Amino acid sequence: MVDLQSQYAKIKDIVDPSIQEVMDSAAFINGPKVHQFQKNLEDYLGVKHVIPCANGTDALQITMMGLGLQPGDEVITADFTFAATVEVIALLQLTPVLVDVDPVTFNIDVEAIKNAITPKTKAIIPVHLFGLPAEMDAIMALAEEHNLYVIEDNAQAIGASYTHKDGSKTKTGAIGHVASTSFFPSKNLGCYGDGGAIFTNDDDLAHTIRGIVNHGMYERYHHDVVGVNSRLDAIQAAVLDAKLPHLDTYNKARRNAARKYNEAFKNHPNIVTPTGLEQDDNDDAHVFHQYTLNLKGVDRDALVAHLQANNIPCGVYYPIPLHLQKAYQDERYNEDDFTVTNQLIKSVISLPMHTELDDEQIEFITSTVLNFINSNK
Ligand SMILES: *Cc1c(COP(=O)(O)O)cnc(C)c1O
Repeated sequence: MVDLQSQYAKIKDIVDPSIQEVMDSAAFINGPKVHQFQKNLEDYLGVKHVIPCANGTDALQITMMGLGLQPGDEVITADFTFAATVEVIALLQLTPVLVDVDPVTFNIDVEAIKNAITPKTKAIIPVHLFGLPAEMDAIMALAEEHNLYVIEDNAQAIGASYTHKDGSKTKTGAIGHVASTSFFPSKNLGCYGDGGAIFTNDDDLAHTIRGIVNHGMYERYHHDVVGVNSRLDAIQAAVLDAKLPHLDTYNKARRNAARKYNEAFKNHPNIVTPTGLEQDDNDDAHVFHQYTLNLKGVDRDALVAHLQANNIPCGVYYPIPLHLQKAYQDERYNEDDFTVTNQLIKSVISLPMHTELDDEQIEFITSTVLNFINSNK
């Protein structure tokens, strides 16, 4: 699905010296590399504060601790996402409220959010799924109306820009009250281990969160709040700082690959290709963490088996809706409220997507998919 080896081979000359600097300085925790990466990411995103931490799941948890959410508070998020999002809500004894997604964008359905708001609702977590920004203007307006926090789960969309109704653009992660991201190796900006970060434009919240990631300490050995130990280590920061200047090029390579896939599948009666490529080459409206097709009248699992038999990796993100996971069942849920997710889990398939895909690979993948579908009608 990804080719991190070829990517590393091309940037080894900048990554290795950056790591070596950390080794020579022996500043393995915090220190200048982490600070440098933090500043560079703040500039890149146009956000006031980046607070690095250990991984994307911690980042989400810490945002909710920072906002002071209390047990029993309800947090609305999408039924169709990676479990990390809902896991940390539950871990903090908050109540996850899952809602359906849009059939075209796969992102959280704004009408469904509206219907799920109760007096206990405190926050909404839109996930910019597969690299496509959620409908942030509508979500922010709804949040303002009901006095709710918006936490962007930006783990899959770093570098994407959201275009507001007035035409202006903001990078995802800089729109909500606070955002989280992951630097897991296969993410669009990945390190060589685990890593994550929190973003916010709110000075007070940034201060609170900086303490939480460091055992609730604002002054050495004074623990004002219950915190955690969640740090981005300096070697990972060295990798990320070396890769950050390439992020736009990487995202562009992903979009180019997506464009070629879309072209090959264009107007096929059994294949719905992803949206988000309507604009010009330089538009970063979708950064294709995943390239996901929605199949109509195709035996998806048979196609998966066929691709595997041809040594083509593929993935099903996600095969089970979160509301049906044992850990997250809730009596409030009604199957009729999840018709889109219940369908998508049966019809989506994600094809290889990374920065190193070449035309020959794309041609082999698309022809193998098309041959299977056209001969199994
Ligand atoms: C990857 C991911 C996370 C978790 O990130 P980790 O760094 O693996 O903890 C959270 N949310 C979404 C949507 C993700 O894709």
